[in-house]
Amino acid sequence: MPKEYFVSLHDHKSPPTYRFFNGEKWAESLTGKTIDVISPLDNHILGKIQLVSHSEIDQAIERAHQAQLLWRDIPMIKRAQILHLASDWIRHHEHYLTTILIKEIGKTLAEAKDEILRSADMVDYFANEGLHIKGEELSGEAFPGYDQTKMAIIERVSLGVILAIAPFNYPVNLSVSKIAPALIMGNSVVFKPPTQGAISSLHLTEIFRLAGVPDGVIVTVTGGGSDIGDYLCTHSGIDMVTFTGSSQVGKSIAEKIGMIPILFECGGNNPAIVLPDADMHSTAVEIVKGAFSYSGQRCTAIKYVLGLSPTIDKLLPIVVKKTKELIKMGDPRSEGYNLGPVISNAAAEEIEKRILMAKAAGAKIVYGGEQKERYIEPTILEGVKPSMEILRIETFGPVVSFIKVKSIDEAVKIINGSNYGLQASVFTSDEGAGIKLAQQIDVGTVQINSKPQRGPDHFPFLGIKGSGIGVQGIHYTLEAMTRFKPIVLNKPQ
Ligand code: NAP
Repeated sequence: MPKEYFVSLHDHKSPPTYRFFNGEKWAESLTGKTIDVISPLDNHILGKIQLVSHSEIDQAIERAHQAQLLWRDIPMIKRAQILHLASDWIRHHEHYLTTILIKEIGKTLAEAKDEILRSADMVDYFANEGLHIKGEELSGEAFPGYDQTKMAIIERVSLGVILAIAPFNYPVNLSVSKIAPALIMGNSVVFKPPTQGAISSLHLTEIFRLAGVPDGVIVTVTGGGSDIGDYLCTHSGIDMVTFTGSSQVGKSIAEKIGMIPILFECGGNNPAIVLPDADMHSTAVEIVKGAFSYSGQRCTAIKYVLGLSPTIDKLLPIVVKKTKELIKMGDPRSEGYNLGPVISNAAAEEIEKRILMAKAAGAKIVYGGEQKERYIEPTILEGVKPSMEILRIETFGPVVSFIKVKSIDEAVKIINGSNYGLQASVFTSDEGAGIKLAQQIDVGTVQINSKPQRGPDHFPFLGIKGSGIGVQGIHYTLEAMTRFKPIVLNKPQ
């Protein structure tokens, strides 16, 4: 059983209390305080995590600094070998990690397995691509007034200690997408896992350690974001923050942290425009998958669909039919169910509140709309206005709204007027028209004839406005986790 490799992570009580990794060992916090991690599947306590103290954070960051000075001098090929070993460990423990993920965040088997395997592939890709990140050489002679006496050797060097904060919905994948590039480029990592998702994240930490990442090069501190987030983000020992999470938390961190590099992936509230010539059948299938996969708890989920009145009249009944056929709500551990619970009772209550508020303000519930504990039926609304709360802020659940517009220009205006800007979809049988429309839409990425999605992971992935700062994607993330260091040679005249 692979479990034996992870015994140092927790005690043997039921439920177990997990330790944090302070850069030296798996430790219990001197605060004596813990936080429950509750399974959305049945509301039982899966485990407890440590709420670390400020002085434990100080010590962990100091260790990360000391360790980074040695790590950055280890040849990159050796760092890459360690990462490849880590990806092997992830694959080797696929079944075990998948099981934790299902229990901890309520994913289906297919979704959880995909997250684990994709994470292993991502670690390999980062390790390989890191070897090709280079600096450059420039000669002074190209600029007026300078001559051949100056030459710059421009290295790409590590940044130092990178704080990595991940969200609950992809606690393994969106941790790996921060930890692996930071490590290969010679940084050390202070990892703050999401509370819900912390158990998977602690296992991930141990995997990097077992693969050979030296002590201190990764430290993992646990605690609620509202308890330790501000202290971590504003700590003078942090040289960069890479964060994925909601726009609200992203904005509050950005306002506090001062002059250090940041890479933020925040909320999405993604629209789809359907043109009259679109294939209604395949468009409906993409909308159903886009809106309801992982219960709509994906930053790239489709949240609203815009079209001319005759288009929506044609499309909506097909979307309802496909939802009935394709989406089965129930415990994702049982076969045949593909729509599980949302992450917590509080999240479910907030989603239901917004559905009912939209209804009270004149929207029509075309399908679904009922809540039972953490389960929300796949919900389709019509007659929604962009000013309604269900659309104005990202609703992280299985809800999609349909809006009839008088012109496609009006649809573009609605999208461009939003505070979000992650992705958008355009459905049409005329790819030229799709590209033209895509050029007018202010979001990070426009998908033509597909639901929004991240990946393939070497494509650039970015949000604008409230949806993020900076560009992710293998090569782009690697560059973002380094800085230029020009060394200028002045030759004798
Ligand atoms: P969240 O509530 O914003 O939390 C994200 C992370 O930030 C968690 O680790 C959380 O810790 C931590 N945190 C909370 N308050 C903090 C603070 N004051 N300072 C520092 N860290 C703090 O988001 P979530 O509910 O976990 O994830 C869902 C959100 O992430 C959605 O909005 C979704 O769109 C977004 N997301 C975006 C992308 C993208 O690529 N654009 C991808 C995935 C998810 P605790 O868990 O301990 O509170």
